[in-house]
Amino acid sequence: MNFIESRGNDGVKKSSVSFSEAILSPMASFGGLYVPEYLPNFGLEFIKKHKNSSYKELAKDVLKSFEIDIEDSLIDEALARYDEFDDANNPVPVVKVKEDLYISELYHGPTRAFKDMALQPFGVVLSSLAKSRGENYLIMAATSGDTGPATLETFKNKDNIKVCCLYPDGGTSDVQRLQMVTEDAPNLKVLGVKGNFDDTQDALKSLLASSEFKKALDEKNIKLSAANSVNFGRIIFQTIYHIYSYLELLKVGKIELGDKINVIVPSGNFGNALGAYYVKQAGVPIEKIIISSNRNDILTDLINSGKYDLRDRELIQTNSPAMDILKSSNVERVLYDKFGATRTKELMNSLSQNGFYELNEDELKQFKEDFEAYSCTDDEALEIIGRYLENGYLMDPHTATAIKAYEEKNDKVLPFVAYSTAEWTKFSLTIAKASKVDVNSDIEALKAISKKLNIKLSDKIDNLFKKDIIHLKIIEKMDIMPEMLNFLT
Ligand SMILES: *Cc1c(COP(=O)(O)O)cnc(C)c1O
Repeated sequence: MNFIESRGNDGVKKSSVSFSEAILSPMASFGGLYVPEYLPNFGLEFIKKHKNSSYKELAKDVLKSFEIDIEDSLIDEALARYDEFDDANNPVPVVKVKEDLYISELYHGPTRAFKDMALQPFGVVLSSLAKSRGENYLIMAATSGDTGPATLETFKNKDNIKVCCLYPDGGTSDVQRLQMVTEDAPNLKVLGVKGNFDDTQDALKSLLASSEFKKALDEKNIKLSAANSVNFGRIIFQTIYHIYSYLELLKVGKIELGDKINVIVPSGNFGNALGAYYVKQAGVPIEKIIISSNRNDILTDLINSGKYDLRDRELIQTNSPAMDILKSSNVERVLYDKFGATRTKELMNSLSQNGFYELNEDELKQFKEDFEAYSCTDDEALEIIGRYLENGYLMDPHTATAIKAYEEKNDKVLPFVAYSTAEWTKFSLTIAKASKVDVNSDIEALKAISKKLNIKLSDKIDNLFKKDIIHLKIIEKMDIMPEMLNFLT
């Protein structure tokens, strides 16, 4: 299948591209995104066929259903990355927490956050495509702490790809920072930037827009790609586990084939939620996709009121930093799917020119058919973490926002699958606070909590504190460009 553009075509770019083209150069006309021309059918027949499939078997069939221009051998190689998860036979455990509440744990990959679900196989595909075309790519990421480690991990020592991650100095947890600054490979660069995540992201945007930087890349024959969820190569791998959740509830006899379930997705850039939306549209019996936000609840406002309004908002720092986002890129793909390219372009233009857009009554109704949304404060998240811990379930603060949505939803008729997007170890200071353990650093928190709860830290986390720090530089925004030019020579 081919991929088309969410804001229509500008007459310069191709109006329809293959999957490999869409993932190598993910920016479409007018600043839009690539979207699938149509969706596969993941209805009851597809589900029935996979009742006894492994995660990888299911994944392969999902990818094949999108009819992508990637050879089977490369698909197999990419999916083999799930063998490196904690349990190769069950990379995504779906755990029963209450009679009607299951938690799908998406964090059992190498960097302990859900980003690995897509970035692990995506890295294999992207670097192999670049290599076979004889092209060189640069991927730059500004990270609040989870995308950076997962991007570095998937591309380290890969041919034809260089990666540079920028993180706000002091804006990540120690574990997240160590996951980046200890990555040792010649094709990786990590820079701490003075300022907060917004500053870092702005600095990256102006670098990518600068003609001097573009010229330098051209001279060196390096193209730019992206590994965030504007890249459809991320989204495609984020559809699989939503189907898998349904299959797991079938397998344990919680539901019969065709019964509906609700899913709850902690959301920031809306990539995870978009995966759920696509499989729902493709026929998986999902009643509602429930979006959970922290206090940066712009998505909650959109789904409840039809208004996406940046004008009176400032980004708030919360204890679920991966969801501290106000410009949520993937909502655009839902707009396209529901209302088409012309309306999507109109709405997105209004957002960039006026700082807001508003859906009309009928459009809002269409959103509410698929979505519901709730938000969660830091204190509420702490209370939930503490309370569930008393019953033996340990969760990270992003997951807690999903549990808040579960608790707040009144009509609980159908079973719920909530997504857990990070391991607690990435946010151990918050867990310490929730469980009233008095500590001052990540390492103290990790030790105290694992001792108190009698759990063994994974080697990946434990070893982090012993590894050499490779990337020592903390720089001013204006020094990013010279650092980059130096790295690229
Ligand atoms: C990235 C991330 C999210 C948000 O996912 P989106 O796909 O951007 O909505 C939520 N939780 C954690 C821990 C993450 O790393």
